[in-house]
Amino acid sequence: MTKSSIAATGRGYLAIPGPSVMPDAVLQAMHRPSPNIYAGELIDMMPDLTRDLRRVARTDHQVAIYIGNGHAAWEAALSNTLAPGDKVLVPATGHFGMGWADMAAGLGVDPQVLDFGKQSPMDMQRVADALEADKFHEIKAVLAVHVDTSSSVRNDIAALRGVLDAAGHPALLMADCIASLGCDAFEMDAWGVDVMVTACQKGLMVPAGVSFVFFNDRAAAVRAKMPRVSRYWDWVPRANPDGFWQYFGGTAPTHHLYGLRAALDMLMAEGMDAVWARHDLLARAIWAACDAWSKDGALSLNVADAGDRSRAVTSLYLENGGGTALRDWLETHLDLTLGIGLGMGDDGARTSDGYFRLGHMGHVNGHMIMGLLGGMETGMRALDIPHGPGALEAAADVISKG
Ligand SMILES: *Cc1c(COP(=O)(O)O)cnc(C)c1O
Repeated sequence: MTKSSIAATGRGYLAIPGPSVMPDAVLQAMHRPSPNIYAGELIDMMPDLTRDLRRVARTDHQVAIYIGNGHAAWEAALSNTLAPGDKVLVPATGHFGMGWADMAAGLGVDPQVLDFGKQSPMDMQRVADALEADKFHEIKAVLAVHVDTSSSVRNDIAALRGVLDAAGHPALLMADCIASLGCDAFEMDAWGVDVMVTACQKGLMVPAGVSFVFFNDRAAAVRAKMPRVSRYWDWVPRANPDGFWQYFGGTAPTHHLYGLRAALDMLMAEGMDAVWARHDLLARAIWAACDAWSKDGALSLNVADAGDRSRAVTSLYLENGGGTALRDWLETHLDLTLGIGLGMGDDGARTSDGYFRLGHMGHVNGHMIMGLLGGMETGMRALDIPHGPGALEAAADVISKG
């Protein structure tokens, strides 16, 4: 894009909710010739790599790696556990919940969607009622998106496990943590999640192209009873390979593995609790700024209750198509790129071009978030978008007390 402003030259900032900002350490780790895939360091690094992936997911169970994006992990998880004609329950809180349900339908699985809209988390009572109504346990899995990246709604996955247990329902609990892993606190084993899918280009800070399916013993038992699983999606050889190639069903994603190793080193050095605390602090700074701007202003946070919000992405609305106008201005004049209002349609008085999103996942720190917020303030001034005062002070206050 040609820059029409004297303030645009310098390091750009991609503040979209995936792909996220790539650390220099990840870029440098990937900048090398192709390695030998039959012997040597690439093969030797796999045990530690899968161990550290499990540490990030807080699980002692298994992980299968796929060369593919998050959609691939969705399909892999479904392909290993569900046969055509099986039913799944999908409590959806945005575009991605609907997308996973649609992926299931494409495989001949019958999704029962509970649509909770795009501004609030799943209502556990309605989920409980749906499970209670399923007397013959025809629902084989509950597909739950932890953080729906379109709406920025965060769901309480531990509470969802509680609902399944209270109903005595045997359905597998599957969680999409593509936007949340490495950002929002997540505990696969402690929360009783049977299958978890994620991808590398959000909290894991690696360019898009590799995704993961974590599964526990309950899910493995379901897989073992499947009449047929496609060879390529089958998680059994990927999680327990006899040969190196089986991790990936073919040639390894060599450079992604080096990048992922560097990213996991960063996460392990910081510590997952500190990683989560950083995302929480920066998210609270963003919300404080947005609260200030929304007073007498045109801006509003999509999710009203802070307890229901993601720490990785924030969906916002600006009246009069202001979301698109602000994004365009910031990209052109500051080389600051915000996320589009994905899957947020024209509803009631609101138009889709009013929606936009801030990505604050992965390799982000306090000065970047203050820069992001300062950029937004600058753009709103330039475009005469009404906004309340004191936003940057409010954000600085949050971070300074962090
Ligand atoms: C990004 C995302 C996806 C889709 O991942 P792709 O890598 O784009 O296929 C699915 N679910 C959630 C929650 C996401 O954030």
